[in-house]
Amino acid sequence: MNDDPSFVPVVIVGAGPTGITAATKLAQYGVDCLVLDRWQDVYPQPRAVHLDDEIYRLLAGLGIADEFAAISRPAHGLQLRDRNMRVMAQFHRECAESINGYPQANMFDQPELEALLRANLKQYPHAVLRVDAEVTEAVPIGIDKVQVTFTDRVSGEEHRVETRYLLGCDGANSLVRAAIDARMEDLQFQQRWLVVDVATAAELNQWEGVHQVCDPHRAATYMRIGDTRYRWEFRLLPDETADDFSTMAALYPLIRPWVEGVALDELELGRVAEYTFRAQVANRWHRGNMFVLGDAAHLTPPFIGQGLCAGLRDAMNLGWKLAGVVNGWLPESVLDTYEQERMPHARYMIRFALAVGTAMTAGGEVGNFLRRVVLPRLHRIPGVREKIVDSTTPALHSSALAHKSRGRRELAGKLCPNPVLVDGKRLDNVVGARFAVITSAPLDPPQRDEMTRRGAVVVAAHPGTELALWLAVGRAMAAVVRPDRTVLCAGRDLAEVCCTVPIFAPPADTGA
Ligand SMILES: Cc1cc2nc3c(=O)[nH]c(=O)nc-3n(C[C@H](O)[C@H](O)[C@H](O)COP(=O)(O)OP(=O)(O)OC[C@H]3O[C@@H](n4cnc5c(N)ncnc54)[C@H](O)[C@@H]3O)c2cc1C
Repeated sequence: MNDDPSFVPVVIVGAGPTGITAATKLAQYGVDCLVLDRWQDVYPQPRAVHLDDEIYRLLAGLGIADEFAAISRPAHGLQLRDRNMRVMAQFHRECAESINGYPQANMFDQPELEALLRANLKQYPHAVLRVDAEVTEAVPIGIDKVQVTFTDRVSGEEHRVETRYLLGCDGANSLVRAAIDARMEDLQFQQRWLVVDVATAAELNQWEGVHQVCDPHRAATYMRIGDTRYRWEFRLLPDETADDFSTMAALYPLIRPWVEGVALDELELGRVAEYTFRAQVANRWHRGNMFVLGDAAHLTPPFIGQGLCAGLRDAMNLGWKLAGVVNGWLPESVLDTYEQERMPHARYMIRFALAVGTAMTAGGEVGNFLRRVVLPRLHRIPGVREKIVDSTTPALHSSALAHKSRGRRELAGKLCPNPVLVDGKRLDNVVGARFAVITSAPLDPPQRDEMTRRGAVVVAAHPGTELALWLAVGRAMAAVVRPDRTVLCAGRDLAEVCCTVPIFAPPADTGA
């Protein structure tokens, strides 16, 4: 694609993690897309530090598993502590490979991840990233096009480009969200927090997971994010600002419980920022051919480290569907499933984050009761324990691409596991960017031919393997798995299950 086209099938506003992930997915399927961002470089301030195994798996699909391993650090999970640092509850995460094939909790630095995502995008000629490009307007032209106007921030020149699909990955103050007339529904949470990154070669000898200090006066979060790098977050008091903590000496009283014994001059203050944590969901995620993704569609308070994760899930969910539509493999109606599937999932995760935030910060008798009575027993309550200990997120809601009907054990809407198969390869590496039929019963030759014609990979779930067990637990003989690894449908009737596989035929060398 040339650098200054007048028409591009997909234009993406915003080159944050969500926008670059969407662009990479589309480019993997050979879809031309233009990404516009107002800034030259990635946003340097401290933000996300945690992502889960589902998202690690998604990064692997973008082709950067090894690169991410080099900049991240598996963590042990989450501890809820009282104001005296006593552990009230602990939720362990597995550092070894999870069902998705990666550690369940991973610490990293968002600007480093974003740099990695941008570097990776360069290998896909179908995607062009144009920086210093401030998008000022997005207006529909007729029913099937959008005109995007942007200003080159260096030359001051105004440009126009037409597109078939516009993806607003333009963050919390999204222009695209306004263009589709969506408004943010406020889930009634707003708090000012101080966020600081500190470097030190000294060993702090702390438990290697996230510490959440539950204290209505001064709630706090601590975590190690690299060999010598640490993140603290503190709720600010009404009369405080980040400027009050711009030196190590001023910050020291807050971080003392973790750095006792380490001299002040051994600690190097990195980035210091103030953020207002919010919980919001847009009431509409698309209008016609304009969509919002990531922080443009939802804001998650970072207590469970899931905001960026949600944006990447959006990009993955919409990316392969949009590629299918642009390439003529899928009907345009499948794009409706993006909001149907993703909105309830994002809302659930925000409510979960709010629950943790409430336990950390709520004052009064309710807060005290939560901390003294409920939290210490939380990990003993069956059901709740699994939810918190397991990094698995909820199944997607029913849609034309997630045929749900049967109850709690059903597989549709859930992610399939990513085990190492008998040939020594991981499932994801065998399936790539295509649909898969995972089956514990052999397909007859005509069925096999038909699956090949439709572009799907057939994977045998041999007796005694993880895939066979997974199908058995879901009371299924076979499952159809989408390119984003969500189960489209599962059941006991092989022919019926195979019928649901759409024609979806990316070339074998998509790199996905
Ligand atoms: C303190 C803190 C801690 C966090 N911790 C975690 C965590 O541990 N785990 C986690 O998963 N999430 C976490 N998050 C959330 C995470 O940082 C965000 O969810 C994530 O950055 C959202 O990515 P995005 O690409 O959707 O939006 P953004 O990162 O905001 O990117 C939007 C992009 O759009 C561009 N843009 C906007 N408007 C225009 C325009 N008009 N023209 C051109 N370009 C435009 C911007 O320049 C920007 O590059 C945290 C957030 C904070 C603040």
